[in-house]
Amino acid sequence: MKVLVVGPGGREHALVQALLADPYVREVHAAPGNAGIARMVPVHPVEATDPAAVTNLARSLGSDLVVIGPEAPLAAGVADALREAGFAVFGPSQAAARLEASKAFAKQVMAAANVPTAMARMAATVEEASDALDTFGAPYVVKDDGLAAGKGVVVTSDRAEALEHARSCFAAGGSVVIEEFLDGPEISLFVLSDGRHVLPLAPAQDFKRIFNDDAGPNTGGMGAYSPVDWAPAGLVEDVVNRVAQPTIDEMASRGTPFVGVLYCGLALTTRGVRVIEFNARFGDPETQAVLARLKTPLGGLLMAAAKGELDAMEQLKWDPRSAVAVVVAAAGYPGKPRTGDRVRGLKKAGRLEGVSVLHAGTRLKKDKVRSAGGRVLSVVALGSDLDEARDRAYAGVDLIRLEGSQHRTDIALKAARGEVRVPEGSNTV
Ligand code: AMP
Repeated sequence: MKVLVVGPGGREHALVQALLADPYVREVHAAPGNAGIARMVPVHPVEATDPAAVTNLARSLGSDLVVIGPEAPLAAGVADALREAGFAVFGPSQAAARLEASKAFAKQVMAAANVPTAMARMAATVEEASDALDTFGAPYVVKDDGLAAGKGVVVTSDRAEALEHARSCFAAGGSVVIEEFLDGPEISLFVLSDGRHVLPLAPAQDFKRIFNDDAGPNTGGMGAYSPVDWAPAGLVEDVVNRVAQPTIDEMASRGTPFVGVLYCGLALTTRGVRVIEFNARFGDPETQAVLARLKTPLGGLLMAAAKGELDAMEQLKWDPRSAVAVVVAAAGYPGKPRTGDRVRGLKKAGRLEGVSVLHAGTRLKKDKVRSAGGRVLSVVALGSDLDEARDRAYAGVDLIRLEGSQHRTDIALKAARGEVRVPEGSNTV
């Protein structure tokens, strides 16, 4: 089959790599891709958020399947335009992608489907926000209702800072969701859905904050690993039964079936598992770690979801090794990143055993790779355990040369040392 992958990031590079390894995938194209993707498959300079342009490209390529990576094209209705034109699409409609595009909508769906999540209140004015902050108390959690590339959430014990974030969202014409603070470690679970059936992938953990020890502001994600050995037994089954399936059923009953990947961001709290957020697509950089371990051919899997045939899939096969992904970000990220710098050492790093370098914010200029975004690349490594995967990934990171670049040095460290503490009582939903 011929597959078109839409999006420019590290997640799309991981998707392209995994699709190329599928014996039934004959050809992969990407739009717009990045410098790393361009070294593997033909890329097309098409605006990923332009439904007509993406549909025309799929038509001219004769794509059998279109896989949409990021949230922005989903929210822009790219999947709808493609489906209307008769293409098999992996990625939800605009209406179903609201599970990610509006945190308030996601809360309504979770309430209707009885899915456990943080108690929350919506606020559209400073008075409402102020009132909601005092209802839940510190630490305060304030979320931009709309899409914010992983940077719309402020968690702080400083009431003034919390209120300031709400104010800035209102100033931009938005509203906020204010909710109770969820304690406990976080796990990401990707659940594939064909609109009716669900199929979970292996859980991963990601690292949202920019600095070691989870300090500093939130980012799109600075690293990830899989598997998550400290996850309570039965967690995946519980989350499928109490979170994913009820949400998929609720979306179907509303006439807006969800086809794609429902990303369940979970907190394992002292009072049980709670949904922190839904995303309507693969997470970045968790995808890099999870797909490194997936042995079931990806093209067939995504096609089964696109065609409503996930129930016919056999059990997924996984590489028993561990995978660690470490993001290398540009200076200035998650604020305004510095771009246009040469990125060196890519080939050397990619030649290390078990290591691949997946590009995100890169572009080719005169055949040289330059930084072009906040998260520039991720180094992904497989190893016999998390320690070895970490060592390999960081050996790769050490070979990458990018002026002023930043990366965390503690990705998967606590898990490798067996230091992640799961609160008692958190193993039930
Ligand atoms: P979100 O975009 O909703 O995933 O939020 C980004 C990050 O903010 C999450 O991964 C958590 O680390 C943190 N966060 C979000 N909601 C809460 C909450 N209710 N309690 C504690 N931390 C939260």
